[in-house]
Amino acid sequence: MRPRLHTLGLLVLTAAVVLAATPARPAPPRVLMVTYSAGYQHEVVRRPAIGTLSTAERVVAELGRRSRSFEVTHVSTRADVERITADSVRAHRALLFFTTGELPIAAAVRQAIFQAVRDGGGFIGVHSATDTWYAVAAYRELLGGSFDGHPWHQRAAVIVEDPTHPATRHLGKAFEITDEIYQFRDWSRTRVHVLLRLDPRSVDVGRGRRPDQDYALSWIRLDGRGRVFYTALGHEPAVWADERFQAHLLGGIQWALGSP
Ligand SMILES: [Zn+2]
Repeated sequence: MRPRLHTLGLLVLTAAVVLAATPARPAPPRVLMVTYSAGYQHEVVRRPAIGTLSTAERVVAELGRRSRSFEVTHVSTRADVERITADSVRAHRALLFFTTGELPIAAAVRQAIFQAVRDGGGFIGVHSATDTWYAVAAYRELLGGSFDGHPWHQRAAVIVEDPTHPATRHLGKAFEITDEIYQFRDWSRTRVHVLLRLDPRSVDVGRGRRPDQDYALSWIRLDGRGRVFYTALGHEPAVWADERFQAHLLGGIQWALGSP
């Protein structure tokens, strides 16, 4: 018995030394996720009860936890939004907006957001992030476009223009999805790098406003040293439960955080 116990003791000691020598994992970057709706409120950002998370908040937090690539600060109520400061913006590596309408954020804090992105931060816009801050030209420029209605709400085919990006490389050349499909104004292909676009043959394209039928649904752009990712998908709760959308969003968030 004695030698065995001795061996066991040595193993425990070795394990303790190894654990002590392992450097602490650095804290993952933080994402400030804003889901306040100053205008129309989507079902996926509605909290079922005080103290609970909405579908979108829960999915994003789980994506960060499972991938160990980020942690989330949730900002959902008007009071939470009003409490955002330039310092709290700078305490986060990226911001994620699933918002609508004119957000009650002071001009100085707004400028801090734009500056933080230009200085190397990330900005992730999801679905109605483009249906937000119409009065703020710099916000429109940051995102690369502005909501101009949703001519379609149906099953549609989506073409993957860039199958190499972390947000799209799991999607193949094309896929079908049932969701609300946006069109944009103040949007130009020359100012963004398109990841996804609507296959116009899959819808009644005459309901859209663009003569060129060029309806991008996800894109990226660089803003100074910062990275901006936008996806127009995400209206339907079923889309948030769809693993393809979750991987799309995770890839976009990780890219905006500066991962390759
Ligand atoms: Zn919507």
